[in-house]
Amino acid sequence: QKYVYDFSEGNKDLKDLLGGKGANLAEMNNLGLPVPPGFTITTEACQAYLATGREPDGLAGQIEAHLESLERAMGKRLGDPQDPLLVSVRSGAKFSMPGMMETVLNVGLNDQSVVGLSAQAGGNDRFAWDSYRRLIQMFGKTVCEVPGEEFEHALDDAKRAKGTQNDLDLDADDLRGLVGAYKKIFLKHTGREFPQQPREQLDLAIRAVFESWNAERAVLYRRQERIPADLGTAVNVVTMVFGNLGPDSGTGVAFTRDPASGAQGIYGDYLANAQGEDVVAGIRNTVPLQELEQLDKTSYDELLGIMARLEEHYKDLCDIEFTIERGKLWMLQTRVGKRTAAAAFVIAGQLVDEGLIDLDEALHRVNGAQLAQLMFPRFQLDHEFQPVAKGIGASPGAASGTVVFTSARAVELAAEGKSVILVRRETNPDDLNGMIAAKGILTSRGGKTSHAAVVARGMGKTCVSGADEIEVNVPAKRFTVAGQTVNEGDVVSIDGTTGKVYLGEVPVMPSEVVQYFEGSLDPEHIDNALVRAVHRIMTHADGKRRLAVRTNADTGADAARARRFGAEGIGLCRTEHMFLGDRRELVERLILARAEGEREAALAALLPLQRADFEEIFREMDGLPVTVRLIDPPLHEFLPPLEQLAVNVAVAQERGEDVAKEEALLAAVRRMHEENPMLGLRGVRLGLVIPGLFAMQVRAIAEAAVSCARGGGVAKPEIMVPLVGAVQELETVRAEAEKIIAEVVGDSGVEVLIGTMIEVPRAALTAGQIAEAAEFFSFGTNDLTQMAWGFSRDDVEGAFFWRYLELGIFGISPFESMDRDGVGRLVRIAAEEGRAARPGLKLGICGEHGGDPDSVHFFHEVGLDYVSCSPFRVPVARLEAGRAVV
Ligand code: ADP
Ligand code: MG
Ligand code: MG
Repeated sequence: QKYVYDFSEGNKDLKDLLGGKGANLAEMNNLGLPVPPGFTITTEACQAYLATGREPDGLAGQIEAHLESLERAMGKRLGDPQDPLLVSVRSGAKFSMPGMMETVLNVGLNDQSVVGLSAQAGGNDRFAWDSYRRLIQMFGKTVCEVPGEEFEHALDDAKRAKGTQNDLDLDADDLRGLVGAYKKIFLKHTGREFPQQPREQLDLAIRAVFESWNAERAVLYRRQERIPADLGTAVNVVTMVFGNLGPDSGTGVAFTRDPASGAQGIYGDYLANAQGEDVVAGIRNTVPLQELEQLDKTSYDELLGIMARLEEHYKDLCDIEFTIERGKLWMLQTRVGKRTAAAAFVIAGQLVDEGLIDLDEALHRVNGAQLAQLMFPRFQLDHEFQPVAKGIGASPGAASGTVVFTSARAVELAAEGKSVILVRRETNPDDLNGMIAAKGILTSRGGKTSHAAVVARGMGKTCVSGADEIEVNVPAKRFTVAGQTVNEGDVVSIDGTTGKVYLGEVPVMPSEVVQYFEGSLDPEHIDNALVRAVHRIMTHADGKRRLAVRTNADTGADAARARRFGAEGIGLCRTEHMFLGDRRELVERLILARAEGEREAALAALLPLQRADFEEIFREMDGLPVTVRLIDPPLHEFLPPLEQLAVNVAVAQERGEDVAKEEALLAAVRRMHEENPMLGLRGVRLGLVIPGLFAMQVRAIAEAAVSCARGGGVAKPEIMVPLVGAVQELETVRAEAEKIIAEVVGDSGVEVLIGTMIEVPRAALTAGQIAEAAEFFSFGTNDLTQMAWGFSRDDVEGAFFWRYLELGIFGISPFESMDRDGVGRLVRIAAEEGRAARPGLKLGICGEHGGDPDSVHFFHEVGLDYVSCSPFRVPVARLEAGRAVV
């Protein structure tokens, strides 16, 4: 088996085998760019090593052969005492895992070759000893697990002895001394001398890179980023080039465009007389890349030329690492660069303008998660605000508020109308009330799948988790960070997108993208690259998508907003809220009614109220379909809670008041009490048990539609029956509804469809029968998920989902993103069998999943007609529905 590839044998499409770094080094090499010669050991070799604990057969020989040809090409031998070839040994997995894995530079130096290196560099002792001490440091830390601080301390001591802060002030003798100190540290921690054999150094370094794949932080990072655990890393062996040879040498990083805003220009940092890792380590201050023009115009111009070439070749923003050795430019790395959500849109738009990609490709380059990010308000950060800590952006948004440390205090202050940020080491189910009351949640422990993160996302609440610079002291009601103490009552601001934490109140600005969707920014007439790019890409997505996008809206105001956001109708109008507020009393009367007359009177009083609600919604959605769901939750949800009522009655009795009415209510509440309301008397069951309830709602809907039509509008009501599990339920409701509709509609031209939710597994499994009585299905994926898994959303997310995520039982909460295999299978069966029974059956989805990017792709695949989601998610669904096509 071939385990080793020369750079000339690879290309950018071989990332699985060669890792991102190796594949792109090969690609640059093939483009004729100046890449130091080298070779790549495949991820397969790494996988084999990790599986068996030893290098696979044949690997050593292949490395030997490639090393020899590298030595021939360079005219030097690895670690040769007179003129040593030195190499770097660099990790590089398929997906970039910044800072997670290891690299060792200057492999091949030892007590002899350091002298040869100096001689070859024209007697530059300082350079040679600096390179040697770097090798011992990196090798010790990476390969032999010597604590890095020990080397840092020795370096600090050397600088202190010299009376300087700057490592450039250390001369050859200082560095020679430092090498001695480093070797002692190495011996102390490993029990052996620093290895002097160049080939042994190389083999140990390669093995260390293999093993770094399973380093704790790498494992953690992969879990968080959902990178599969079994990919392994490739290893790149690259001829060293030296940025630390003097002032005419240096090293830098650059982006071909601004990865923050997408703006065109030159973005990068340069550090003269340094080796690569110094730039990232921030040991010395870098200068902006533009200054290289003054320092070395030839290299600068060549670099800009290469950057343009790379962009044209990759047709995307690239980031690069380069080194200049005595005026000669070398390319050490490139990849398609990470970018912010805003930059993703702006760059995609620019690349279309530049003719590098078409609009379909532009649509590929952005996604719904990025669009959602751009729709949150943002902090308006000027220089006065510097983050004091950075955790994981666990749930997006920008939140400022008073710091509290307990759930109880959060609830108290929120009741006073204050915005609070709940700060905890980590949250647990007892914190739920506090999390609900808080504007944002900040924890010092835990990642994207911690309790805090999962629950906050479920609630749509801003959350920063795992900000580990923060030291939380709950009993003392304070936390410390960056040498400062923050007490309960102080104000902090947290950014759930970037994970950054600020002291004080950072002003918040509304999202321009939302302003655009709202119609208050005209993309044709403002100079805003982001809004223009979003407009263009959204327009293209709309032109491409097959799925229609509706919204879940219960009020005229929500309907109007969603329509501005591009909703093409309402997929779910809940009628529950129409029974709340001062209408509760009517519901009480309905429930307490003894005689038929009393009940009818209560329903008759509710009818005009409901009708008015529907009229408003039909008006806002003029010309578009509106799916109204008949009442779903159990009626006792509209009554006062049992305990409270019992206490009231007891107190009133004590006072000798007349409590007949309250007692009747109490008895009713007792009667209706359910151990498990989610699986109790609700939905269609309620409609079949309480005479006249559904009939009243159907009448209100039909009358509202007719009144709209009379007023010159077009109402398209679709009546949706919830929680159906058997076709007979639907047939019963349908028979009654059809009579009422026929009577109300008359010759008004109004057409009313009757359909059902598919949210009980039995409904999905008998969809063929149910379709006989339904003109449309709408998948209620929230309930369908609850019932398919057998767990209640309200109870489980905080209770054990974190554990399930940790164990990988699911990669993401099934309430957040469609469980394709299980719940998705029910959807698929119902869609197929429903359509087989009734061709042209209209199919939609109205659960939370309607606005989830991955789920939208699933619904597209299954062939639904539309998705429906909350107004704010409508643009995300439009974009993803377009992306599902291209
Ligand atoms: P990472 O993946 O963490 O960026 P790299 O393998 O890219 O690690 O290497 C770390 C640093 O060392 C980078 O700045 C890189 O440019 C530099 N470097 C790697 N190989 C060489 C080499 N052969 N010559 C000079 N510098 C190198
Ligand atoms: Mg790198
Ligand atoms: Mg439901």
